[in-house]
Amino acid sequence: MSKYTAGPWGFRTNPCHGADVVDLSSHWIDGPSGKPIANIYEYYHGESEANARLIAAAPTMCALIERLAEKRCEYGNGADCNMLPQGVRRSPCLPCQARALLDETNA
Ligand SMILES: [Zn+2]
Repeated sequence: MSKYTAGPWGFRTNPCHGADVVDLSSHWIDGPSGKPIANIYEYYHGESEANARLIAAAPTMCALIERLAEKRCEYGNGADCNMLPQGVRRSPCLPCQARALLDETNA
């Protein structure tokens, strides 16, 4: 079971943005019920909407990464590139990179 809010996530412009209120975020990330789960701030001019789109797509991207992580290591049956000794280690294959990313994000 995922440890994050289930998708789909959406994003919208903060209706209070620019108003004389405390919330200075430019966009909101909404969970599946439309309740905001995160605020997005303008880091550099014009990037906040792209950042909001990227974050809102996270559950979909995570599902794709989970499917990739289910595949076997490309270097052999039962192998895991992340477990190879340092002298033998090479760039991890895509399924092993996917498993490492899921571990890293605790997804
Ligand atoms: Zn591998």
